[in-house]
Amino acid sequence: MINRIKNLIIHCSVSNFRDVPSIFSWHLSRGWRDIGYNLVITNGVINSDDDYVYKLDGIIQKGRELDFDAYVSKEEKAAHTLGYNENSIGICLIGKKKFTIDQYLSLYHVCKVFKRINPDIQIKGHYEMSTSKGKTCPNFDVAHFRTIIEGHVFEDEIRNVINENFPMSYND
Ligand SMILES: [Zn+2]
Repeated sequence: MINRIKNLIIHCSVSNFRDVPSIFSWHLSRGWRDIGYNLVITNGVINSDDDYVYKLDGIIQKGRELDFDAYVSKEEKAAHTLGYNENSIGICLIGKKKFTIDQYLSLYHVCKVFKRINPDIQIKGHYEMSTSKGKTCPNFDVAHFRTIIEGHVFEDEIRNVINENFPMSYND
């Protein structure tokens, strides 16, 4: 049974570092068979004792399988949101409560791509799903972010609009 993608659900890692290989081994150690997310967006810090590296910030990494069509295949079905994995894609921003401008811009572009594939896809924060049980993940106002994706903000204003409206992590 192949379902159309209904939701693109945004999560955060609740950690100040990591990338796909490191989440992969973390999830495996919890007894899961694969990484729980389809996509991960890095924040420039991979290991806990690493310095921030600009080139490693805002990179969109593939976790669980993803082919960017309008369907969730068996291989693409991930493990991130109880009750919604059958018809959703999971994206994880590395971070706890603040994220870098490059992460938000990468997220914005991923959402735009999926909206182009299927305009009916809903962009959701984990906290907006009925099974989230009071979780605040990904710890920013996804409803507001959605209005920017679905609105008519000019491309050259996106950076400023995001900078002014969302919890921003400044790495120095
Ligand atoms: Zn989450």
